[in-house]
Amino acid sequence: MTHTCHAEGCSKACPPKHLMCGRHWAMVPQSQKNEIWRHYRPGQEVDKRPSTEYLRVMKIAIDLVARAEGQQGSLL
Ligand SMILES: [Zn+2]
Repeated sequence: MTHTCHAEGCSKACPPKHLMCGRHWAMVPQSQKNEIWRHYRPGQEVDKRPSTEYLRVMKIAIDLVARAEGQQGSLL
């Protein structure tokens, strides 16, 4: 099974513990990266049970990248 980047429209493969590929991860503001790592639980990518908080900050990061790329994010 291949894990792919969570950024919108991106299907680049990346390690399961990484939310996005290197290019998209670089577009996430540092403060938001900190939030993601704060809520990240080792092993969540194995048991597929990330916390509600992780899913929330993950979605914000995806929206921020989508907006940085000029797409319409769902927060707009
Ligand atoms: Zn990507």
